[in-house]
Amino acid sequence: LKKTAKGFEKKAGKVEQAAVLGAGIMGGGIAYQSALKGTPIIMKDINQAGIDLGLNEAKKLLTKRVDRKRMDAAKMGDVLNAVKPTLSYGDFETVDVVVEAVVENVKVKHAVLAEVEKQVKPGTVLTSNTSTISITTLAEALERPEDFCGMHFFNPVHMMPLVEVIRGEKSSEKAIATTVKYAKQMGKTPVVVNDCPGFLVNRVLFPYFGGFAALLRDGADFQQVDKVMERFGWPMGPAYLMDVVGIDTGVHAEGVMAEGFPDRMKRDFKSALDVMFENERYGQKNNIGFYKYE
Ligand code: NAD
Repeated sequence: LKKTAKGFEKKAGKVEQAAVLGAGIMGGGIAYQSALKGTPIIMKDINQAGIDLGLNEAKKLLTKRVDRKRMDAAKMGDVLNAVKPTLSYGDFETVDVVVEAVVENVKVKHAVLAEVEKQVKPGTVLTSNTSTISITTLAEALERPEDFCGMHFFNPVHMMPLVEVIRGEKSSEKAIATTVKYAKQMGKTPVVVNDCPGFLVNRVLFPYFGGFAALLRDGADFQQVDKVMERFGWPMGPAYLMDVVGIDTGVHAEGVMAEGFPDRMKRDFKSALDVMFENERYGQKNNIGFYKYE
């Protein structure tokens, strides 16, 4: 974790037009939040179904705001107009910041980043919302790695205030400062962190999940553990949180953390999470995890 130096924000470029690649859970949320807070955004996906999902999610969230009288219908129209869905790279030369939020796969991300770099003007800041891939590794696909850094949002994007801005080996101060500025424009709290497995939040969170897995092995009841942690003051317990994150995502991230920090994060037993993953109980995304959802 690095403190940002005085005058750091002066190094930021303008952020008047953004773009997000991938209109999934995260991309749709990022587009909605950017538009809501006044930065127009192009939302690109490779299939129309993805775009429709992203837009429907944005409409659902905005309708809720209108119903709760936190927004009028005209403003809702303005926000929706500020999200430009597309299947092509048209207009990318006007973009100041790009957030890549496609599937969590190094090869796909390398291809997408190399492709978008050719579409934007030099100086456009490229970022990745990856949860588990090294920013320095992703930068290997780029001709201008200095214009690239991590911008890690949390799910659901509209509710979670924190954004990790990750400094890769070659990220410039301008790229970091511009990303910090964009996060603030979106109403978020950015924190600048170094590139390592789990960045900052998951390095804290995964030992907690590891402790939870050990409790289950020792015979604890997950619902009781959830209740205890809620009474302790957390908004939700570890089982419910895992269901929100996705058991598949959790197991994958656990593997990355264990590889990165074998001395601290490697489990020497098969956990309830592994068993649930094998049984395709992925959490809220397929309506069954620790709990059942309708
Ligand atoms: P998702 O599967 O919901 O969405 C991915 C989208 O990317 C899909 O709509 C897909 O069509 C699209 N896509 C695939 N290839 C593309 C390409 N070449 N160009 C444009 N679009 C393409 O995934 P998600 O959960 O939104 O995750 C996206 C990224 O965000 C991943 O890197 C993930 O690790 C990260 N992330 C996810 C979460 C989470 O809780 N879901 C939290 C933080 C970060």
